[in-house]
Amino acid sequence: MIYFENVSKTFGKNVKAVRNLSLHIERGEFVFVMGDSGSGKSTLIRLLLKEIEPTEGRIIVDGEELTGMKRRRVPYYRRKLGVVFQDFKLLKDRNVYENVAFAQRVVVTPSRQIQKDVPRILTRVGLSAKYKAFPGELSGGEQQRVAIARALVNQPDILLCDEPTGNLDANNAWEVMQLLEEINAGGTTVVVVTHSREIVERMGKRVIVMNRGDMVDDRQINGSEE
Ligand code: ADP
Ligand code: MG
Repeated sequence: MIYFENVSKTFGKNVKAVRNLSLHIERGEFVFVMGDSGSGKSTLIRLLLKEIEPTEGRIIVDGEELTGMKRRRVPYYRRKLGVVFQDFKLLKDRNVYENVAFAQRVVVTPSRQIQKDVPRILTRVGLSAKYKAFPGELSGGEQQRVAIARALVNQPDILLCDEPTGNLDANNAWEVMQLLEEINAGGTTVVVVTHSREIVERMGKRVIVMNRGDMVDDRQINGSEE
């Protein structure tokens, strides 16, 4: 599903954010990416989003090579991806329903479809009762679930999460992780960047460890999830 082949990303002359990375993530996998601040985790996400280009190497997603992709193809490619960030990035002046619907309006979804999809996805993230609430009226965990609903409403194949629990307390973080696990069980490939060793150990998934641009570990953890 996702292949990195000898990928390097250098910023300026000598900031090697990612160094000669080769990696394969299969369809349907759940993968954590761990590492200290500045180790290259967000760079991996941005490379997948095609926000930035590799300095060397190739990235192939769902059979499509990202380098050299035609410009007009990029927005269609991006529809295969859902993205969730640490700071939620919700529209503060729109309610929950509109925040999720927004992701469909930008890709010109018929309103009948929006009226069907938004309630369905809000139910899936456990927020159907709060569809009229504004982001400022929600807890951090609820806001992140809105962001996850928005990322999923167009049914992406891959969900990319960059420190999705970085602003959440332990309970909310754990709930968000369980939701991501459910989403993965539904067939979506999930990649989660996190700082939290505790979460990674509890969840028991594959973990890729980055250190100063190098992948220094790639292994399966035995979880302690009860
Ligand atoms: P992480 O997400 O693991 O904290 P990043 O991938 O954001 O790390 O950054 C990896 C390295 O690349 C850091 O040294 C960072 O300062 C550098 N970097 C990231 N983005 C840029 C950029 N746009 N311009 C210059 N340097 C950058
Ligand atoms: Mg980062």
